[in-house]
Amino acid sequence: MARTDEFIRDVELYSANNYFPLPIVIEKGEGVWVYDVEGRKYLDMLSAYSALNQGHRHPKIIGALLEQAGKVTLTSRAFHNETMGAFLKKLCQMTGYEKALPMNTGAEAVETAIKAARKWGLLKKGVPENQGEIIVCENNFHGRTVTIVSFSTEEQYRYGFGPFTPGFTAVPFGDADALEQAITENTVAILAEPIQGEGGVLVPPEGYLAKMRELASRHNVLMMLDEIQTGLGRTGRLFAYEYDDAKPDVLILGKALGGGVYPVSAMLSSADVMDVFGPGDHGSTFGGNPLGCAAGMAALQVIEEESLVERAFTLGKYFREELEKIQSPYVQEVRGKGLLIGVEIKKEHGTARPFCERLMKLGLLCKETHDYTIRFAPPLTITKDEIDWSLEKIAQVLT
Ligand SMILES: *Cc1c(COP(=O)(O)O)cnc(C)c1O
Repeated sequence: MARTDEFIRDVELYSANNYFPLPIVIEKGEGVWVYDVEGRKYLDMLSAYSALNQGHRHPKIIGALLEQAGKVTLTSRAFHNETMGAFLKKLCQMTGYEKALPMNTGAEAVETAIKAARKWGLLKKGVPENQGEIIVCENNFHGRTVTIVSFSTEEQYRYGFGPFTPGFTAVPFGDADALEQAITENTVAILAEPIQGEGGVLVPPEGYLAKMRELASRHNVLMMLDEIQTGLGRTGRLFAYEYDDAKPDVLILGKALGGGVYPVSAMLSSADVMDVFGPGDHGSTFGGNPLGCAAGMAALQVIEEESLVERAFTLGKYFREELEKIQSPYVQEVRGKGLLIGVEIKKEHGTARPFCERLMKLGLLCKETHDYTIRFAPPLTITKDEIDWSLEKIAQVLT
């Protein structure tokens, strides 16, 4: 443990204390596996919160990154580069949107969508300036900026960080009637996650997103889905909204869009919505940079070439069914879609953290979310044998 303790000591000395990581120091990753500084091997069932759908250091993505690094890495949007147009074309063709605006982190893409919706409300819907309202869901997670935590319903995410950005109304997640009642003439958008990942892998009732789609169209409101965690194959569809056939007006992507090697996010929409942005209205120094676009392009190609969506669907179904077979006195519920799976621990047995710590000792990395739920979300490149190996460890800890 000597090296591990040394590394952690430096973090404790010099880092802000804004995380509570498991006590493992990772030195190397490859595919679904990571290795710590003591030479121990673990299966990564967190995938950096679904940013590693393509696995660690996918050779094609690393290759694209290295090749681009040998040419040019950053131009800023003051000039054009070779890679951005091709990447956005691929992204739009794959997703069925007309336009994309590239940013870096998920939170930035969410902020971009909020700005687009507000300005769309003013210019296209005729909502008076500074009066646009956005409806969000309780228990949401969309990132950590001041505006985004302004509409979080998690007290800890907000405490001490006010004053907050106005213009948001929260309604219970999964409740279409509450959503309808919250719509006013000044509503410009509804912003939601199709499955609340950080909220505890909460799947809304079937038909909820379809109802949201219908309400948004009927009231001339933009439906905006944050698929930063659920998108790009994670749930067994390219996007989770496909289960409800409810394509949003604005789609927000991040995490796996950068293939696990580079922060790449984007807001996607019709040209009509994207047109609200003119030169100087919005931007980012690194957004659309050559390295990110090269990684993003390869990340999308890997999803297609390796049929990661179909893998997530088939293997996710198998994984969930096998988890349900485990006779555990601790488990309240197994839920999720594709390879985004939550196992909720009964409250009387305490939080999920000790279970994650025990799994770590057995070589399986995962993290509790919302205290009582263990999230299993391995890279979509995982094999059935690796799932069987994991199930053995999970059964050991849960029985
Ligand atoms: C992770 C996440 C974000 C924030 O992304 P960052 O890159 O951490 O800013 C936003 N929304 C959802 C649903 C996420 O899972």
